[in-house]
Amino acid sequence: MSEMTSCPYSKKCGGCTYSDRTYAEQLEIKNETVRKLLGQIAKENGIKPGPIVGAKEPLYYRNKVHSVFARTKKGQIIRGIYRRDSHEVISVSGCLLEDKKADAIIEEIKRLVPSFKYRIFDEDNGTGWLRHVLVRMGKCGGKEEIMVILVTADVAFPGKNNFVKALRGAFPEITTIVQNINKKRTSMVLGDRDIVVYGKGFIEDDRLGLKFRISPGSFFQINSEQTKKLYGLALEFAQLTGKETVLDAYCGTGTIGMFMSKSAKKVTGVELNPDAVRDARDNAKRNGITNIEFICADATKYMQEHVEGGYDVLCMDPPRSGSTPEFIKAAAGMDIGRIVYVSCNPETLARDLKLFAKQGYRLKKLVPVDMFPLTDNLECCALIEK
Ligand code: SAH
Repeated sequence: MSEMTSCPYSKKCGGCTYSDRTYAEQLEIKNETVRKLLGQIAKENGIKPGPIVGAKEPLYYRNKVHSVFARTKKGQIIRGIYRRDSHEVISVSGCLLEDKKADAIIEEIKRLVPSFKYRIFDEDNGTGWLRHVLVRMGKCGGKEEIMVILVTADVAFPGKNNFVKALRGAFPEITTIVQNINKKRTSMVLGDRDIVVYGKGFIEDDRLGLKFRISPGSFFQINSEQTKKLYGLALEFAQLTGKETVLDAYCGTGTIGMFMSKSAKKVTGVELNPDAVRDARDNAKRNGITNIEFICADATKYMQEHVEGGYDVLCMDPPRSGSTPEFIKAAAGMDIGRIVYVSCNPETLARDLKLFAKQGYRLKKLVPVDMFPLTDNLECCALIEK
């Protein structure tokens, strides 16, 4: 992508910061951000941040696509996104980030809605039926798996079989269709109840070398290609020989830890969200991984309570807010020699790296990865050693 990519919705949407920049320019901006925020600490440690790992295909990378359905004042059915900081729906089709086929499927649903006389949900008075459509794409054994989720306000689904027939007639690649019931007046897209309408109710993805089950609500990295590169980097930094015990803190659904488990003696994942822990255990079992365990706990507390943990390598992937001074102190107290820090926020990474430095750690490597082209999100992978 050397040409400019411009998006007619960018001002109203706010999702893309760099839709008017070439990809090379975007990468340079991100390299510059890393230099600005992390250049000093890198210099103090005698290293240079690596150039950002760019994407081969910086457009249409999102494997999860969401559209809210609405009617205009004139009664026209539209689908798109909420205007930034509001509940007004703006009509969007052909978003530059979203998988093209997912987009075409949602467009087809919009086309089918009038002939099935489905009523569009009205957020102001809580009437109507169809609220959102989500499409999630996976790949397993080289074959595409596509899940369509229709979020509706009640369980009725008039003309269900004919609708499935019509939609699959246009897109036979769709492997499963799920109806999700969301009666609440909420900005949350998904409600609590799923009804499988067609297929198995989930998709699977094996592009990371492991098989992951993706249900309507489960977390999965949205850019599969770049995730592969990020995890590859984390694994390389961890320098595992098969003998190490690894602690995967803030482990989410356990992907990084599972990725490392093949090269480690044992992995322990720690995660606060019980749903993510359940998915992590499930995924490990499905992949026949027996040298991994998952613990549902606050990461800082876990560290403080397991000073004698004896971990050789710590991998950490905290949320945007970063880790805590107590976590970092505890890690040092546990005498962990090698730390791989995956960060989605360079500002908190810089802050935490300084805290690690105070505990006698040195930054050895720092490489940004462009997980989300066109947006200003910046992911980094850092290697810290004692
Ligand atoms: N590596 C993970 C994603 C990590 S995102 C994956 O690929 O799935 C950051 C994770 O930290 C989230 O899952 C979040 O629930 C978790 N988290 C947030 N605060 C936490 C805390 N105090 N203790 C443990 N986990 C926490």
